[in-house]
This record gives sequence, structure tokens and C-alpha cells, in this order.
Amino acid sequence: MSRRGIAADVPGLVEKARSGDARSVARLISLVEDASPLLREVMAGLARLKKETGAGGAHVIGLTGSPGVGKSTSTNALVGEFRKRGKRVGVLAVDPSSPFSGGALLGDRIRMQDHALDPEVYIRSMASRGHLGGLSWAAPQALRVLDAAGCEVILVETVGVGQSEVEIASMADSTVVLLAPGMGDGIQAAKAGILEIGDLYVINKADRDGADQVRRELRSMLGLSERPEGAWNPPILKTVAQTGEGVADVVDALEEHRAHLESSGDLARRRARRAREEIEAIAVTALRERWGDVHARTELDDLAERVVAGESDPYAAADELLATYTERPLPD
Ligand code: GDP
Repeated sequence: MSRRGIAADVPGLVEKARSGDARSVARLISLVEDASPLLREVMAGLARLKKETGAGGAHVIGLTGSPGVGKSTSTNALVGEFRKRGKRVGVLAVDPSSPFSGGALLGDRIRMQDHALDPEVYIRSMASRGHLGGLSWAAPQALRVLDAAGCEVILVETVGVGQSEVEIASMADSTVVLLAPGMGDGIQAAKAGILEIGDLYVINKADRDGADQVRRELRSMLGLSERPEGAWNPPILKTVAQTGEGVADVVDALEEHRAHLESSGDLARRRARRAREEIEAIAVTALRERWGDVHARTELDDLAERVVAGESDPYAAADELLATYTERPLPD
């Protein structure tokens, strides 16, 4: 439990974050990162704010793709384009790969110097330290903070590949899958399971040879999956993130996707699904925290011994475990 968390004046922080105070936004996200016991109060405050003011509703955009494909550079370019269009922007760079890195990996990841002094841009990196449930637990809460601070667009950039990336992408309203020539991306993406999750595909480094070939390969891979009538047809765009070429088209496509989500009812459905996952993650984490405490012998250890000895079976033991823990309220 962090000292900075304990000392916080939560209502004051929430109020200031709402008016766009960057330091308060940063403090609140630190509470999330530290899994502070004050989070309960923070989230209640944010919910009240939403109910009273109708605030929120940021367009959450996830960026995913293999390392080196140009995620950081693209995020920077996208922030620039959204700022040109007058939007307040949040950037959340998350490292889902390790609970131990403490954000170290992210230290040099954020090449956002272009926007560091812009008061309408919030940039934050976050690791999953302190969270048993990892970032599936923390990222949505950080998004709530940025949303409450009036961000109209929130870009979520992930570091690392694989399943965790897919998880983070499921928190976004729109997911951009980035590819680049010369990286064997098609195969990599297919392996990591990220081909199915794109609402938009961007072939970055279009200044290099091979961009059109990546596009052809991608088109044929995507062509294999059937899409129902009226469904969104993910566009494939090309960019040179370093110069900003093509980035305005990406933002146009993102805005079209958002409009499609709203008119089709998918936005409401995605948000409800996300809230469900969040509740589930909190509940499961709370349960696991109790029976997984490595410092104390828990009921789980007793039950395990009885299963090994044949005095109980795993199903009966699981029933007993659930009964024990659900009779008590969740801890703070
Ligand atoms: P990330 O690991 O996916 O975040 O990728 P980065 O944004 O760090 O970019 C990796 C490297 O590719 C850096 O050296 C960038 O300068 C370079 N890069 C990014 N975008 C482009 C582009 O459009 N064209 C070229 N030629 N290089 C790029």
C-alpha cells in the first residue's frame, strides 16, 4: 500500500481532475497503478460525476502490432492530427507483459515530446505492478480517469505481443492493427490472434518497399472471414508515421468507425461487455487475493490437502471454497 495513496484527498482530486488539472489526473492514475485501497472511493466519485454531469464518452482507440512496427511514432502522429481537429487527447501506454517491470520498459517508449507541453494532451504510461489481475483490471480504471478529465479521444498503446495485447484491445471502441513491410507481419499477426480484432488496419512505413504486398496479403487473409450484412468493413490504409503521411485518413476512418458503432448499437453493446468484464475481474481478483495469500495458510491449502488425501474431491472442495468466501463481503 503506497503512502502517496493514503495521503490523498480523493474528492478534491476527482474535482480537480474533472476540471482538467493534469497533476490530479496523474495522481489518480497512480492510485490505479498501485492498486490503492482508495480506488473504491475514486471510482464511486467518478461514477457520481458521470451521473450528475453526463460527462465522459471518450472514443477509446487501441493501437496494437509487433514491436518496431511504429506504434509509438503513430501514436504521436495521431495525437497531432486529433489536436488539429480540436480534440482533447489522452494517451495511455500500457505494459501488460510483466508485473515486475514497474514501467521501466516504458520509460523510453513515449516519444511524445511534440505534445509534452500541450495542456490538452495527457500522456501516461502504466505497468501492472500491484495488480493481481494485471492490466485487465487497471486499464479500464485509468480510462475512466482520463474520460472524467474530459478527454474526447484516448489512445491506448500496448507494449508486448500476444494474448495480453488482445485483452487490451478488447477495452477499445476502435482497434487499429499496425503492420509494416519487411517484418513478416501477416504471419506474426495471425499467430498472435490479432488479425481478427482490427477495426482498421494500417500499413505503416509505406515509404519502404513491400507495403503494397503486405496490403495484398492482408486483404486475402481478411477476405477469408465472412462478414454479416451491414457489418463494418475494416479498411486497410497506408501511412508514413514519421512524416504524418496518411494519418489524416486514419483519423477520418476512426471517426467513421465511431459513427458506425453508434448507429449500429455496437458501442453500447461493447461498453456493457466491458463493464461486465471489469466487474468480473474485480470480483475474481478479490476472491483470489483471499485464497492465494502466500504468507498465510489459507482454506485453500486445507482443502488441497484433503483432496490429495482423498477425503474430498475437487468439485466438492471448490464448492466449499466458494461458500466460505462468498459468505463474507469483498474487502476494500
Ligand atoms: P513501436 O515499437 O511499434 O512503438 O515502433 P516505433 O514507433 O518505436 O518505431 C520503430 C522504428 O521505426 C523507429 O526507428 C521509427 O523511427 C521507425 N519508423 C516509424 N514509422 C516509420 C515510417 O513510417 N517509416 C519508416 N521508414 N520508419 C518508421
